[in-house]
Amino acid sequence: MQFNKTGFTRSLGLLTCAGTLLACTQKELKTEPPNIILFLVDDMGWTDTSVPFEKMMSDNNRYHKTPNMENLAKQSVKFTNAYSASPVCSPTRCSILTGKNPARSQITNWIPGQSNDIPESEQKLFIPDWNVNGLQSNSITFPKVLQDHGYTTAHIGKAHFGLEGTSGADPKQLGFDYNIAGHHAGQPGSYYYPYGKKGSHKKVPDLEEFAKDSLYLNQALTVKANQLLEQFSKEKKPFFLNLAHYAVHTPIQENKQLVAQFIQKDKTETQAKYASMVASMDNSLGSIMQKLEELQIADNTIIIFMSDNGGLVTHAGHPTSNAPLSDGKGTCREGGIRVPMMIKWPGIVEAGSQCDEPVISDDFFPTILEMAGISTKPYLKSIDGKDLGPLLTGNGNFKRPQGLCFHYPHYWAWKSLRDSYPSIKPFSAIRMGKWKLCYGYEDEKVELFNLDEDISEQNNLLLKEPEIANRLCSQLRDYLNKVKAQTPLDRQNNKPLKYPHL
Ligand code: CA
Repeated sequence: MQFNKTGFTRSLGLLTCAGTLLACTQKELKTEPPNIILFLVDDMGWTDTSVPFEKMMSDNNRYHKTPNMENLAKQSVKFTNAYSASPVCSPTRCSILTGKNPARSQITNWIPGQSNDIPESEQKLFIPDWNVNGLQSNSITFPKVLQDHGYTTAHIGKAHFGLEGTSGADPKQLGFDYNIAGHHAGQPGSYYYPYGKKGSHKKVPDLEEFAKDSLYLNQALTVKANQLLEQFSKEKKPFFLNLAHYAVHTPIQENKQLVAQFIQKDKTETQAKYASMVASMDNSLGSIMQKLEELQIADNTIIIFMSDNGGLVTHAGHPTSNAPLSDGKGTCREGGIRVPMMIKWPGIVEAGSQCDEPVISDDFFPTILEMAGISTKPYLKSIDGKDLGPLLTGNGNFKRPQGLCFHYPHYWAWKSLRDSYPSIKPFSAIRMGKWKLCYGYEDEKVELFNLDEDISEQNNLLLKEPEIANRLCSQLRDYLNKVKAQTPLDRQNNKPLKYPHL
């Protein structure tokens, strides 16, 4: 085993080095590398929780019941401006594992993406030849680096990292020692046993033992996670667990034990079912936290909570609302990319604190490696993420002069939906401080929003603030150019469209 302790001795030093040098050294020698759990929820919206991520409680915050998230929040730093790198699944999941933004990896859509339902003759532009294979066995992922430094690594739940039939469809090829229930598919066939029809490519694998009890999928995954935690606690090696629930993605299927409390006059049946899926996910979080306490490893286990994109509002019965954010999954609006995020790091982060700095899923690669005390220097030139360490420890400065970039050169969903939601479009966007600029490739439309005053993105300030728009547009263009991002193709000559411009 190799452990470079620089990262966590530096952090712990804040708390422990007030005494003598000898005392400090003894403390450092006793320090164990932390266990790390990434608790990733699928399609969970920013307000799908009783934990508010802005000052005002929204209607959704009051409706949902997530007491275990509330408990986690009391022990964590809560990020109020956290983003998924993409408004859809695979690009965000791949950005987490690699630290590369979708613009760089060219994994820009969910895998394998959907066929365009408009005849070619009517398409205004063509989508680029993106990396539909996704991650592959030769991809550099942080779980592989953790393995090389003595960690045991496990994936449980939804993977959706690579195309069916390729190496990346199997999490074990991407740095996980264990894989339970993860494969190419982006959703379960069903939340009840056998979790999809026999022979269906959506049938969740590895869960035959639940035939008798027919546990709801979230519960089945939690049982498997707790079994692994018990095993890991005996093995005395640090571990990383990627517990990636299929919930709360479609199909919207209620947890029968939990749904009754959510049936209310002002809510639809779909919303009630969805709320029970959220509550079930929250029960899983509570069960995991309780298991860590029982095993007496909670004090040395970091928990990171995150969703892989915004909440689904466009179809499937409109299960949620992201208000006050606009729109949702698949769109360029905040509802598509702003997500709940918390980090519990016992003894390091200030419990019950809040961080308003914009952060993104690209940041997990360097942050998790630094948490484990592993230097990220060898990777910095080829990744986009930044170590969030200074924000977590209060030690050092956190600067991101280039802002956060989003790049989605695709049409999500089908034409009838796109007619109802103009924010479903091929786009690039940048967030810099309070400003957000969106660029649509179809009509070359530029929109500028002040998120501090207009979180709902209702007032386009392009004409009022042309200098700011110009600066953001230039930064976005320079970044896309630097990483050779793929743009949609001009249907006239089949050449890539220009990067964002005013
Ligand atoms: Ca998703």
